[in-house]
Amino acid sequence: MNKVGLNIKPTAVIVDRDGVINADPHGYISTPEDWHALPGSLTAVAKLNALGIKVAVASNQSGIGRGFFDEKALQRITARMQACLAAEGGHFDFIAYCPHHPEEDCPCRKPKAGLLLQIGKALQISLNKHVWFVGDSEKDILAALAASCTPVLVKTGNGLRTLAVDRKEECPIFDDLAAVVRYIEGLE
Ligand SMILES: [Mg+2]
Ligand SMILES: [Zn+2]
Repeated sequence: MNKVGLNIKPTAVIVDRDGVINADPHGYISTPEDWHALPGSLTAVAKLNALGIKVAVASNQSGIGRGFFDEKALQRITARMQACLAAEGGHFDFIAYCPHHPEEDCPCRKPKAGLLLQIGKALQISLNKHVWFVGDSEKDILAALAASCTPVLVKTGNGLRTLAVDRKEECPIFDDLAAVVRYIEGLE
């Protein structure tokens, strides 16, 4: 942990998908077969469920806007993710995707706050520092800050590169989502 003190259990944890829940193949995940959970990520989500902490996903999926895959494919990938998570006894309370091409200038593509605002509405929670957003890219950190949430960076996925090159904001850093959740389990 760095100097940013996070000493109260969060009310909700929002997670990026690629590089946090599943491996980021440095391309696009366009079929369910491309989707592979990172070690410990799904049991970490199940632990948050058991703690009564809401868990949601906020993920840019511009592969749709770019024409690499369609909404149906994303639904099938999501179904696989949910089935794998259910097998570990977990669930997501809400999943928010931005399907747009970056040039569409939509309000939801991270680093904008739109996906987090959608999640706040869906879960009927107010967004504040007690809502953590766990991501592996600078876009995630910036979206968390834009939505008044607490950004948390993990070293999986794009995380090490973000640490080395992109990160402009101070935020707590953990090895992976499992480490974030172990930390949360130790909080009041
Ligand atoms: Mg990511
Ligand atoms: Zn969008």
